[in-house]
Amino acid sequence: MQRDKPIIIAGGGLGGLTAALALARRGFAVQVLEGADEFGAIGYGIQFGPNVFHVFEPLGLADAVLEHADSPPGVIMVDALDGHEVTRVATGNPLFRERFRYPYIIIHRRDLHRVLLDACARCDLIDLVSNAMVTGFAEASDRVVVRTEDGRSFTGAALIGADGVRSRIRAQMFGDGELRPIGYVSHRTIVPMAELAADVRRNDVVLWAGPGFHIVHYPLRHGALFNIVAVFRTASYAERTDAERWRADLQHTYRNAHPTMQALLAMLDLQRRWTLGVRDPVRVWHKGRAVLLGDAAHPTLQTLAQGACMAIEDGLALAELAHLAGGDFASAFRQFERARCLRTARVTLESNAIWEMYHADGIAREVYWQTLGERSKAEVYQCLAWLYDGFRLPDGPAVVADPAHGFGA
Ligand SMILES: Cc1cc2nc3c(=O)[nH]c(=O)nc-3n(C[C@H](O)[C@H](O)[C@H](O)COP(=O)(O)OP(=O)(O)OC[C@H]3O[C@@H](n4cnc5c(N)ncnc54)[C@H](O)[C@@H]3O)c2cc1C
Repeated sequence: MQRDKPIIIAGGGLGGLTAALALARRGFAVQVLEGADEFGAIGYGIQFGPNVFHVFEPLGLADAVLEHADSPPGVIMVDALDGHEVTRVATGNPLFRERFRYPYIIIHRRDLHRVLLDACARCDLIDLVSNAMVTGFAEASDRVVVRTEDGRSFTGAALIGADGVRSRIRAQMFGDGELRPIGYVSHRTIVPMAELAADVRRNDVVLWAGPGFHIVHYPLRHGALFNIVAVFRTASYAERTDAERWRADLQHTYRNAHPTMQALLAMLDLQRRWTLGVRDPVRVWHKGRAVLLGDAAHPTLQTLAQGACMAIEDGLALAELAHLAGGDFASAFRQFERARCLRTARVTLESNAIWEMYHADGIAREVYWQTLGERSKAEVYQCLAWLYDGFRLPDGPAVVADPAHGFGA
């Protein structure tokens, strides 16, 4: 096994840091190159299904994560025009815990990042380097040399591109272009709960779904903060413009929305806008000594709230396979693609389909609402089981945190 050089990870997001911890747990030295001057700089809330604990528990992170997280009583879908409840996942019901073993959680991204960073700091095998924007890499028979914008170079045994949706590593490896814009944008805001001026459910995750737009909101930090994400279709999505133009855009789009949504929109911070795009799933994420994970490999719309969760699962899966392959990276990377392709592709494709459903209009909308409304609690859980039950490696041990199975044995 090659232990003389570290594995280099480009990108210290949730996927990159999880991979670093999982690899170090298996004895690999890791160097994480993060382009920003601070790890985990982007805030806002994030939701996780119980499947994320199938990674956090074996990495010894579950308790620390739970300390910062909240578990909502429900994930509720509401009609954005008249405010009636369409359907819900009863995440707070004891049956949910019984069925999926772990809770559904909401957490501030910075808090989660802090948990991962603290764990990295405790580990001698992990070297975290900020202000290291990777521009490309060169490969030799026994190493990769990674270059950064400021002219430094780093030598490793292999390279993991965990550098997100605009991955430069992917661009160099495959040159398959940018995400395909879908015409939707999102704005994200966090306000102190004490300043929340809208009559909404404050403990649940609520999705208001309307024709061409939706809003998601939920509490953070044990009810101290309130996270709002507004998403909508707009013709001016690519324009760089000022907050006033964006406000006018927003008011036009949401003109028929329920009054509660208008109150939520009034609180939005319009300084930053994310344009949303998609990529068709592909089977190959590696070339030689370089491999992609997370959004760099298989970006997804946020409909199932699983993009980060997939990046985190990738991190553990990749480390386990590198370990099982005895450091034969070419073999480990092939196994990794096999292990992760269909599950991540299903997340991407189902997210695309649900995206259409959330934003439908007319008769299609009524049909969807009726279909969703007819499902029993048990049927809702059953629909989510493929996702929330976690994943297994092909021909290998279960990547589940079930002590009875002896994780990673
Ligand atoms: C509005 C919205 C809501 C979402 N909600 C959820 C949710 O509730 N649950 C969920 O699971 N997912 C959610 N997602 C998806 C989730 O944010 C992503 O899937 C997840 O962050 C991907 O993790 P990653 O580690 O692959 O990439 P990223 O989190 O994008 O991390 C990439 C890292 O690489 C760094 N970087 C970039 N380029 C370079 C470079 N060239 N060199 C070095 N470093 C570089 C970046 O600074 C960053 O730190 C949401 C996404 C959006 C847009």
